[in-house]
Amino acid sequence: MRIVDRLASGTPCFSFEFFPPKSDAGVDALFATIRELAPLDPAYVSVTYGAGGSTRSRTLELVTAIKTQTGIEAMAHLTCMGHSRAELEVIVDRFADAGLDNLLALRGDLPRDGIVPQVADPLRNASELAALIRERQPRLSVGGACYPEGHLESATREEDLRHLKGKVDAGCEFLITQLFFDNAFYFHFVERARSLGIRAPIVPGIMPITNFEQIERFTRLCGATIPMRLRLELERRKDDPEAILELGVAHATLQCAELLRMGAPGLHFYTLNRSRASRMILAALKASGF
Ligand code: FAD
Repeated sequence: MRIVDRLASGTPCFSFEFFPPKSDAGVDALFATIRELAPLDPAYVSVTYGAGGSTRSRTLELVTAIKTQTGIEAMAHLTCMGHSRAELEVIVDRFADAGLDNLLALRGDLPRDGIVPQVADPLRNASELAALIRERQPRLSVGGACYPEGHLESATREEDLRHLKGKVDAGCEFLITQLFFDNAFYFHFVERARSLGIRAPIVPGIMPITNFEQIERFTRLCGATIPMRLRLELERRKDDPEAILELGVAHATLQCAELLRMGAPGLHFYTLNRSRASRMILAALKASGF
């Protein structure tokens, strides 16, 4: 199933993102999570591609195992940083030969030490990877990432949007956003993207807050803002993990309901390989008719 076609169907497209576990026990736990999420009828799930390299080969193994063992559509992420063009061509062929229909084309984060791995004939950004995939395997539906609050390396949001337009023109047919906690960022971003001629569906990426220190770390790394009122409520509960999860789920549920009501084409949940928060949110959304 091509995700771009599913997004065009008009009914909200719910999806879950996982990362490849490092151990066999982690893989078993992930499949338990997928079994818990399956009754929510996700349109697809996706598996990240480790920028560090250690879990890279596991992405293909996992997406194929998910597809064959559960029957759920599975999309692989692919990052170009650290791979040569020739390596990427082989990897893209392998994904296509394994029967995948979709790939999320990404550049990958810069290493923490700032030293980009040197390879022969590298690609510079996700647009070049999207173009490579489209040329090599035109059957695949290609998605890309986007940033309602702007990508951290971009001098301005306008500059980032111009690069996003280039990414869509290079072949990205749908976009998934970085996590955000204030819907105003998403609505404003979609408006600016449309005015620049970006027509691709823009799916909000949702990360339910389940752990205070963890969300502070993630938002520092990706530049997402935690609204002041939400931060104050989180701080009041910071010694009570269950209360943090309750607040995180309540906030994300309100966020998701408004996004769908205002026409978002779906929701992509960053699950961190756990099902509880996403199940709670989707139960509420389904009960209210979404
Ligand atoms: P790009 O689109 O290439 O953009 C990177 C930067 O370069 C931006 O600042 C952009 O404005 C700029 N740029 C783009 N084109 C040009 C150009 N032509 N000239 C000059 N500048 C340009 N990381 C992983 O390692 N593995 C994953 O599986 C993964 N999955 C993700 C899934 C989603 C939904 C999201 C939102 C992010 C994901 N990431 C993942 C993180 C991602 O790799 C980082 O955010 C990375 O820093 C940027 O990736 P990108 O594909 O958006 O890059």
